[in-house]
Amino acid sequence: MSIDVSGVTKKFGDFVALDDVSVSLPTGQLTALLGPSGGGKSTLLRIIAGLDRADTGTVSIEGTDATRLPAQKRNVGFVFQHYAVFKHMTVAKNVAFGLEIRKRPKAEIEHRVDELLKLVHLSQFSHRLPSQLSGGQRQRMALARALAVEPKVLLLDEPFGALDAKVRKELRDWLRRLHDEVHVTTVFVTHDQEEALEVADEIVVINEGRVEQIGSPDQLYDEPANDFVMGFLGEVT
Ligand code: ADP
Ligand code: MG
Repeated sequence: MSIDVSGVTKKFGDFVALDDVSVSLPTGQLTALLGPSGGGKSTLLRIIAGLDRADTGTVSIEGTDATRLPAQKRNVGFVFQHYAVFKHMTVAKNVAFGLEIRKRPKAEIEHRVDELLKLVHLSQFSHRLPSQLSGGQRQRMALARALAVEPKVLLLDEPFGALDAKVRKELRDWLRRLHDEVHVTTVFVTHDQEEALEVADEIVVINEGRVEQIGSPDQLYDEPANDFVMGFLGEVT
């Protein structure tokens, strides 16, 4: 079981954003989509999510052909750089939202929210408003909210991009630990080589709409597939 993207091409007008992209991401893996800005990472993530349609090719999620399924039916959770939080709702209410619209029993919701807030280390902040959290805490809340409905797949688009370097590093380590705890299949987009190398099980290097290489951090380092990968990883400071 896995996320399987096969032969995906996406054009915006004449511009080819994704050119015959195929990747297979095993269940439970933490995968980074890494590459320079404009390379097509977000477009690929949006196509996996069902927020955008490929022109050609297929997407299958955990054995189900998802190519024509709308986002709501794909069983995926998202976190974006600028997450649209509900500003007037408490942290607990934000996390509960997905369960409430699914009309889950109240006791179940309370229990699940408690569990999730523990998982993201925000239990003591459950009654705060998002504006009373730090940026890093808000992104942890966003992750708890995405996990609430037990998605099969978690998709993160530059989730820590807006935060300062120190908090980014903390959250990066924290994401790794969280993943080791919940094992949900996770794909995160980043243009930060160090972030990908330190956090991911496997990295998909994407540039100008093409996959340059797929491999573990060690493989990319030891055997870069081409000059592009070597040059791009060489920019790590
Ligand atoms: P990345 O996330 O790797 O920075 P994107 O997937 O956002 O790259 O974008 C890849 C390319 O496709 C960019 O050149 C971008 O300008 C273009 N693009 C993305 N979305 C659209 C759109 N909705 N309309 C036109 N061009 C787009
Ligand atoms: Mg992007």
